[in-house]
Amino acid sequence: MLSSWLGVPALSTGEMLRSEVAEGTELGRAVAELLANGQFVSDDMVNRIVVRKLQQPDYARGCLLDGYPRTVQQAEYLDAFLTNAGKPRAHVLHLDVPNEVILARLTSRLQCPNCKHIFNLTTDALGWTTECTECGSLLERRADDREDVILSRLRTYHDVTGPILALYTGENYHRIDGTRSPDDVFHGIQERLRPCFDGFAASY
Ligand SMILES: [Zn+2]
Repeated sequence: MLSSWLGVPALSTGEMLRSEVAEGTELGRAVAELLANGQFVSDDMVNRIVVRKLQQPDYARGCLLDGYPRTVQQAEYLDAFLTNAGKPRAHVLHLDVPNEVILARLTSRLQCPNCKHIFNLTTDALGWTTECTECGSLLERRADDREDVILSRLRTYHDVTGPILALYTGENYHRIDGTRSPDDVFHGIQERLRPCFDGFAASY
């Protein structure tokens, strides 16, 4: 929704890494082991992958980053990259959701291995089927959606990603209540970003 509203491509580091895993590359095998244990991939590895993408023409007008930066080192690397490339500072959208809500959402999540669409057993009307309503493939639970793995990722998030928020203060930081419906979260984000992009592009 944000990607089409802003007219820029979305780049999910999680999705990029999972596709390396699916292709069984050397990087993919190393990543698979880390992800299955709820651990993060090394900063250097992720920085290299993201910046290689950002230098492609598709991303010249801007880009929506999902799952990056996740550490203070990655955040500093991204800031330095943007500054050196003469690009504006990043806007940070902090979708704030309490741990209990995250746990409930993830343990009821299924993903289509083919078209990557994500379904939630508590909110999506799947009925009796576990087939993807978009393409008909059999839905799967992701290897990193087990409760013990999620709790370990939440601890890591608190310790490793939490300190990033201290770097991002001021007008480019936007805290959004992430407990609401996707539509309400989207409208909340639009309200916050619209004034920032005034004069940047009339269509916003
Ligand atoms: Zn599908």
